[in-house]
Amino acid sequence: ERATLAMLRDVPAITLDGVVVSMLANIELPDEAQAAVDAGAEGIGLFRSEFLFMGRDDLPGEDEQYEAYASVVRTMAGRPVTIRTLDIGADKTLDGEATVATNPALGLRAIRYCLAHPELFATQLRAILRASAHGPVRILIPMVAHLREARASHAAIAAARQELDARGQPYGANVLVGAMVEIPAVAIAIEPFVEVFDFLSIGTNDLIQYTLAIDRADPDVASLYDALHPAVLRLVANTINAGARAGKPVSVCGEMAGDTELTRLLLGLGLTQFSMHPQQLLDVKREILQAHSNALRTKVAAVLNRASEMDLSLLNQ
Ligand code: PEP
Ligand code: MG
Repeated sequence: ERATLAMLRDVPAITLDGVVVSMLANIELPDEAQAAVDAGAEGIGLFRSEFLFMGRDDLPGEDEQYEAYASVVRTMAGRPVTIRTLDIGADKTLDGEATVATNPALGLRAIRYCLAHPELFATQLRAILRASAHGPVRILIPMVAHLREARASHAAIAAARQELDARGQPYGANVLVGAMVEIPAVAIAIEPFVEVFDFLSIGTNDLIQYTLAIDRADPDVASLYDALHPAVLRLVANTINAGARAGKPVSVCGEMAGDTELTRLLLGLGLTQFSMHPQQLLDVKREILQAHSNALRTKVAAVLNRASEMDLSLLNQ
């Protein structure tokens, strides 16, 4: 079983009707990049950089971060590496920080935290840009809710480039900047975000949490945490469709992407970029190889606007 699955490693992920799908990996630490390569990942779709910052008393400096990011870029050997800027707060806290936010999931998290700590953000952006001298790098901004956060992020990236220019340090010419779509407000009013970002990545873990008001880490409400809720699926569909209209790539990097039970559903929603834990890549690829994308799109379109939960059995050919 594992042996036959391994044979799929270098097989391109193409549906029966010829839709080409990108298979990307999620990693938390640099040394996981090799597992991504070994599983045939075509790139890193999500490098959760906050894990470099967690479980320690101090902050990683620019050079330390640069080394970490550059090592992933080198391991990926020309495949794109999507580095998400610090997504700290809520379930992921810095050691020694007094997190007394009244509701951490709705508090100073991710891009909000970074914009409130401009030196920390600038340091990370310079480190990421320096790593882009070694291969294709994309910057991914987490938890964007407001257009002004998008503008402030772009300004911070431009300032980081200027600082590197002043120092004479090299960076890649074409570093794309994308946003996580994980707050319902953005998935609903998506158009301006599609315009100002080069790509989008749907964080279904948080999108489900914020859409359904279910704490993703609270076992007491875990049974209500539901990827198949029609509201969640419409937000995912709206984001994918807006990206397609604008010609901007859209991936899913939340847990939904790595769940083989949901592969056909995501194909039916029009998704062509999946990012997941390296261990899940080949199982999901096998589902894609056996799927007929157009048939799934027709079926999903027919049931997407029903009020009831999506019935996955409808999607079996
Ligand atoms: C998500 O929210 O779906 C996501 C990929 O980010 P994280 O799980 O790190 O919040
Ligand atoms: Mg998230």
